[in-house]
Amino acid sequence: MKLQSALIILFVPLLSGACVHTQDKKFSESKNKVMETAETIHEKNPYYSRTDTAQLHVPLSEWKKILPPEVYEIAFERDTERPFTGKYWDYKGVGTYYCAVCGNKLFYSTAKFASTCGWPSFFEPARKNAVIYKPDHSFAMDRTEVICGRCGAHLGHVFNDGPGPRGLRYCMNSAVLDFVADTHEAIVNK
Ligand code: FE
Repeated sequence: MKLQSALIILFVPLLSGACVHTQDKKFSESKNKVMETAETIHEKNPYYSRTDTAQLHVPLSEWKKILPPEVYEIAFERDTERPFTGKYWDYKGVGTYYCAVCGNKLFYSTAKFASTCGWPSFFEPARKNAVIYKPDHSFAMDRTEVICGRCGAHLGHVFNDGPGPRGLRYCMNSAVLDFVADTHEAIVNK
Protein backbone atom coordinates (compact mmCIF):
# COMPACT_ATOMS: atom_id res chain seq x y z
CA MET A 1 0.00 0.00 0.00
CA LYS A 2 2.79 2.37 0.91
CA LEU A 3 4.46 1.80 -2.47
CA GLN A 4 1.13 2.44 -4.32
CA SER A 5 0.58 5.68 -2.41
CA ALA A 6 4.13 6.80 -3.16
CA LEU A 7 3.62 6.09 -6.89
CA ILE A 8 0.33 8.04 -6.92
CA ILE A 9 1.96 11.01 -5.17
CA LEU A 10 4.84 10.90 -7.68
CA PHE A 11 2.87 10.44 -10.94
CA VAL A 12 -0.36 12.43 -10.51
CA PRO A 13 1.38 15.85 -10.52
CA LEU A 14 3.47 14.75 -13.53
CA LEU A 15 0.37 13.72 -15.48
CA SER A 16 -1.47 16.92 -14.51
CA GLY A 17 1.54 18.92 -15.61
CA ALA A 18 1.56 17.14 -18.96
CA CYS A 19 -2.13 17.97 -19.51
CA VAL A 20 -1.61 21.64 -18.63
CA HIS A 21 1.41 21.81 -20.92
CA THR A 22 -0.53 20.24 -23.80
CA GLN A 23 -3.42 22.71 -23.32
CA ASP A 24 -1.01 25.67 -23.17
CA LYS A 25 0.71 24.49 -26.35
CA LYS A 26 -2.65 24.00 -28.12
CA PHE A 27 -3.81 27.53 -27.12
CA SER A 28 -0.50 29.03 -28.21
CA GLU A 29 -0.64 27.27 -31.60
CA SER A 30 -4.25 28.39 -32.10
CA LYS A 31 -3.32 32.00 -31.15
CA ASN A 32 -0.40 31.99 -33.59
CA LYS A 33 -2.65 30.64 -36.35
CA VAL A 34 -5.19 33.40 -35.67
CA MET A 35 -2.54 36.16 -35.73
CA GLU A 36 -0.81 34.78 -38.81
CA THR A 37 -4.12 34.60 -40.67
CA ALA A 38 -5.03 38.20 -39.83
CA GLU A 39 -1.69 39.58 -40.96
CA THR A 40 -0.91 37.62 -44.12
CA ILE A 41 -4.18 36.79 -45.81
CA HIS A 42 -4.78 40.26 -47.30
CA GLU A 43 -1.59 40.74 -49.29
CA LYS A 44 -3.46 40.22 -52.58
CA ASN A 45 -6.54 42.21 -51.54
CA PRO A 46 -6.31 45.98 -52.35
CA TYR A 47 -9.86 46.60 -51.04
CA TYR A 48 -9.07 45.48 -47.48
CA SER A 49 -9.03 48.37 -45.00
CA ARG A 50 -9.84 48.55 -41.30
CA THR A 51 -10.34 52.34 -41.48
CA ASP A 52 -12.09 53.04 -44.82
CA THR A 53 -15.85 52.65 -44.40
CA ALA A 54 -16.84 53.51 -48.00
CA GLN A 55 -19.09 50.86 -49.54
CA LEU A 56 -17.47 48.53 -52.03
CA HIS A 57 -18.92 47.41 -55.36
CA VAL A 58 -16.45 44.81 -56.55
CA PRO A 59 -17.41 42.21 -59.21
CA LEU A 60 -17.55 38.60 -58.03
CA SER A 61 -14.95 37.66 -60.63
CA GLU A 62 -12.51 40.06 -58.91
CA TRP A 63 -13.25 38.72 -55.42
CA LYS A 64 -12.77 35.20 -56.74
CA LYS A 65 -9.31 36.13 -57.99
CA ILE A 66 -8.08 37.75 -54.78
CA LEU A 67 -9.75 35.87 -51.92
CA PRO A 68 -8.69 32.50 -50.55
CA PRO A 69 -11.21 29.87 -51.81
CA GLU A 70 -12.54 29.10 -48.31
CA VAL A 71 -13.33 32.80 -47.78
CA TYR A 72 -14.87 33.30 -51.24
CA GLU A 73 -17.11 30.23 -50.94
CA ILE A 74 -18.67 31.43 -47.70
CA ALA A 75 -18.71 35.15 -48.52
CA PHE A 76 -20.12 35.00 -52.04
CA GLU A 77 -21.47 31.48 -52.55
CA ARG A 78 -23.17 31.57 -49.11
CA ASP A 79 -21.54 28.37 -47.99
CA THR A 80 -21.38 27.46 -44.26
CA GLU A 81 -18.37 26.01 -42.48
CA ARG A 82 -18.89 22.83 -40.48
CA PRO A 83 -19.62 23.45 -36.77
CA PHE A 84 -16.75 23.15 -34.28
CA THR A 85 -14.17 23.50 -37.08
CA GLY A 86 -13.66 27.26 -37.53
CA LYS A 87 -10.75 29.05 -35.88
CA TYR A 88 -12.96 31.28 -33.69
CA TRP A 89 -15.88 29.14 -32.52
CA ASP A 90 -14.41 28.84 -29.00
CA TYR A 91 -11.71 31.53 -29.26
CA LYS A 92 -11.51 33.78 -26.20
CA GLY A 93 -9.09 36.50 -27.31
CA VAL A 94 -9.82 40.09 -26.27
CA GLY A 95 -10.08 42.41 -29.26
CA THR A 96 -12.10 43.13 -32.38
CA TYR A 97 -13.46 40.99 -35.21
CA TYR A 98 -13.30 42.48 -38.73
CA CYS A 99 -14.70 41.28 -42.06
CA ALA A 100 -12.06 39.00 -43.60
CA VAL A 101 -13.09 40.18 -47.07
CA CYS A 102 -12.94 43.98 -46.66
CA GLY A 103 -11.73 44.84 -43.12
CA ASN A 104 -15.05 46.32 -41.95
CA LYS A 105 -15.32 46.37 -38.14
CA LEU A 106 -18.01 43.85 -37.20
CA PHE A 107 -17.93 42.70 -33.55
CA TYR A 108 -16.12 43.33 -30.28
CA SER A 109 -15.00 40.29 -28.29
CA THR A 110 -17.00 41.72 -25.37
CA ALA A 111 -20.15 40.80 -27.34
CA LYS A 112 -18.99 37.21 -27.95
CA PHE A 113 -20.54 34.51 -25.85
CA ALA A 114 -20.02 30.80 -25.36
CA SER A 115 -22.68 29.34 -27.58
CA THR A 116 -22.86 25.58 -27.93
CA CYS A 117 -23.74 25.77 -31.63
CA GLY A 118 -20.14 25.35 -32.86
CA TRP A 119 -19.88 28.72 -34.62
CA PRO A 120 -18.59 32.03 -33.20
CA SER A 121 -21.60 33.78 -31.65
CA PHE A 122 -22.15 37.44 -30.72
CA PHE A 123 -25.13 39.24 -29.17
CA GLU A 124 -24.63 42.57 -31.01
CA PRO A 125 -22.57 44.10 -33.83
CA ALA A 126 -19.83 46.68 -33.14
CA ARG A 127 -21.98 49.52 -34.57
CA LYS A 128 -25.36 50.03 -36.18
CA ASN A 129 -24.36 49.85 -39.84
CA ALA A 130 -21.66 47.21 -39.45
CA VAL A 131 -23.99 44.60 -40.93
CA ILE A 132 -27.16 44.53 -42.99
CA TYR A 133 -29.98 41.99 -42.89
CA LYS A 134 -31.75 40.04 -45.60
CA PRO A 135 -34.64 37.52 -45.36
CA ASP A 136 -33.41 34.04 -46.25
CA HIS A 137 -35.96 31.35 -47.15
CA SER A 138 -33.47 28.80 -48.48
CA PHE A 139 -33.62 25.15 -47.35
CA ALA A 140 -37.33 25.62 -46.48
CA MET A 141 -36.39 27.74 -43.45
CA ASP A 142 -37.23 31.30 -42.45
CA ARG A 143 -33.96 32.84 -41.40
CA THR A 144 -32.34 36.26 -41.43
CA GLU A 145 -29.06 36.45 -43.29
CA VAL A 146 -26.32 38.76 -41.96
CA ILE A 147 -24.23 40.53 -44.60
CA CYS A 148 -21.21 42.79 -44.26
CA GLY A 149 -22.34 46.43 -44.42
CA ARG A 150 -19.32 47.45 -46.49
CA CYS A 151 -18.66 44.68 -49.02
CA GLY A 152 -21.87 42.63 -49.06
CA ALA A 153 -20.19 39.38 -48.03
CA HIS A 154 -22.36 36.70 -46.45
CA LEU A 155 -21.28 36.34 -42.81
CA GLY A 156 -23.91 34.03 -41.30
CA HIS A 157 -27.39 34.38 -39.77
CA VAL A 158 -28.98 36.03 -36.75
CA PHE A 159 -31.38 34.08 -34.51
CA ASN A 160 -33.73 35.01 -31.66
CA ASP A 161 -32.24 32.67 -29.07
CA GLY A 162 -29.33 34.79 -27.80
CA PRO A 163 -28.60 36.32 -24.41
CA GLY A 164 -28.96 39.95 -23.30
CA PRO A 165 -31.82 42.45 -23.62
CA ARG A 166 -32.22 41.97 -27.40
CA GLY A 167 -32.00 38.18 -27.19
CA LEU A 168 -30.05 37.91 -30.45
CA ARG A 169 -27.44 35.39 -31.54
CA TYR A 170 -25.29 36.42 -34.49
CA CYS A 171 -24.09 33.03 -35.69
CA MET A 172 -21.03 33.71 -37.84
CA ASN A 173 -18.57 31.76 -39.97
CA SER A 174 -14.99 32.00 -38.70
CA ALA A 175 -13.58 32.02 -42.24
CA VAL A 176 -15.09 35.45 -42.97
CA LEU A 177 -13.88 36.96 -39.68
CA ASP A 178 -10.50 38.44 -38.82
CA PHE A 179 -9.58 38.83 -35.18
CA VAL A 180 -7.24 41.63 -34.11
CA ALA A 181 -6.14 41.56 -30.46
CA ASP A 182 -6.46 44.70 -28.35
CA THR A 183 -3.29 46.63 -27.72
CA HIS A 184 -2.96 48.76 -24.59
CA GLU A 185 -3.66 51.85 -26.77
CA ALA A 186 -6.81 50.29 -28.25
CA ILE A 187 -8.14 49.48 -24.78
CA VAL A 188 -7.54 53.05 -23.54
CA ASN A 189 -9.22 54.62 -26.61
CA LYS A 190 -12.23 52.26 -26.72
FE1 FE B 1 -16.84 43.06 -45.71
